Order: sequence, then C-alpha cells, then structure tokens
Amino acid sequence: MATIDIDGVRKRFGNVDVLHGVDLTIADGEFVVLVGPSGCGKSTLLRLIAGLEDISRGAIRIDGERVNDLAPRARDIAMVFQSYALYPHMSVERNMDYSLRLRKTPAERAREAVEGAAGKLGIDRLLQRKPRTLSGGQRQRVAMGRAIVRTPKAFLFDEPLSNLDARLREQMRGEIKKMHQDLGATSIYVTHDQIEAMTLADRIVAMNEGLVQQIGPPRELYEHPTNLFVAGFIGSPA
Ligand code: ADP
Ligand code: MG
Repeated sequence: MATIDIDGVRKRFGNVDVLHGVDLTIADGEFVVLVGPSGCGKSTLLRLIAGLEDISRGAIRIDGERVNDLAPRARDIAMVFQSYALYPHMSVERNMDYSLRLRKTPAERAREAVEGAAGKLGIDRLLQRKPRTLSGGQRQRVAMGRAIVRTPKAFLFDEPLSNLDARLREQMRGEIKKMHQDLGATSIYVTHDQIEAMTLADRIVAMNEGLVQQIGPPRELYEHPTNLFVAGFIGSPA
C-alpha cells in the first residue's frame, strides 16, 4: 500500500484552468472521500493520480517516488468508475483477470486471485457470464473485483455507486467499508452522497472550483465547516 502526495498540482485544458494548485497528502491505508460540486475537478484529480491525464504543474508522488511521467500501468493504481467500464465481449472472469494477464501472472495464480475476489464480492457464480446479462449492482461488483484482484498500491473510486438504487447503494457502501477494513488499502473516493462521505471517510476533502477548501475528519467538517460552501455540502443543518 502507499502514501500519495499531491503537491501544487495544476491542470489546464486548452486555456481553461481546472485545478489551481491542489495540495493533499494521503496516508498509507487512509480512506479519503472527495466531495464538491459538479465540474470542480474531482474526476480530473483522480485521472491525474492514475496517470490518465498529464499534469500541467506540480508533482504527484506515490511512496515518495515522483510519478508525473510514469505510465498508468507502472503506477499500480486501480480505478473504479461510475460507468463500470467493463469489456462487453469478455466474460466476468476475463474482465477480472485482464490486468493480471497483462502483467503475465501465471494462470493458476490469476485463477486463485479471481476466485478469492469473486468470493469476497459474492459473484463467484457469475464468472462465465457476459456483463450485459448482469444487473447494475452485479456489474459494479465485477468492476470492484477487477480492482482488487491485483492488490494495487491504491484505489481511486469515481462515484462508483451513483447509478445504483438506494437500497443497493447502502449494501455496497457496507461492502466497500468492509473491503477497506480487510485490505487496508489507501483509497480516494469521490461521491455526492453525504451519508457515503460520513460513513466511509477517515478524512473528507471538500473541493470547489479547482481548489481544496477544507480537509478533516467527517465530524469536524460537519460541525465546523470553515465556509458556507462546505457547510452547504456536508455541514449540519444548523
Ligand atoms: P467533476 O468530476 O468534479 O464533476 P471534472 O474533473 O470532470 O469535474 O471536470 C472539471 C472541469 O474540467 C469541467 O469544467 C470540465 O468540463 C473540464 N474538463 C474535464 N476533462 C476535460 C477535457 N478532457 N478537456 C477539456 N475540459 C475538460
Ligand atoms: Mg466527475
């Protein structure tokens, strides 16, 4: 697992500044929840950490190593998207062992890893199915399974539950919490859901317009939001 250090990170698309200098250090094993209005730069920040976009200024370090110029695969970070991003033509098993096969993991080890992850997520009976035959909740479990099979250094979650109905969201929230307790993996989790933020986070990071507004444990942001924006987003309705 890993520490992630985000140091003065800026991102500009064309002539539009999206991130204006983000500073954030995430401890080994910490679960950080990132909140903020649509368009404030949350997904962009995750994509920079994963290496899916280039940083304009600043640095990202994983376990002290500067990764600005490292390819996504070399960063060893798993990302789980709202849209699942499963390969439609592959079975659940192939979706889950894809990253292992890319890394030339021996077949036997790959199968054990897939079966272990599938068992944890309750999808062991779905391994030969195609994604289109699965429900939304099952697909999201496959996406999570794909992320945990290779025990990456860190997990990035971009609103993974927002396509699911309320009951399933609650159940999956519990499973993510349990998964984190089991694996102790450094995680950054973007959500619009206040309950998810309050129950999952070691610390909440509130962002607005490309800047971090406040960082702290859930209770602290809830009880002592430092500005109206944070208060409106997660503060107690005083
Ligand atoms: P959030 O996830 O917080 O809703 P995003 O990080 O997706 O916000 O987007 C932040 C801003 O960056 C938005 O204004 C969006 O339009 C812009 N943006 C994101 N990706 C690109 C891109 N590839 N090219 C140009 N603009 C982008
Ligand atoms: Mg987003």
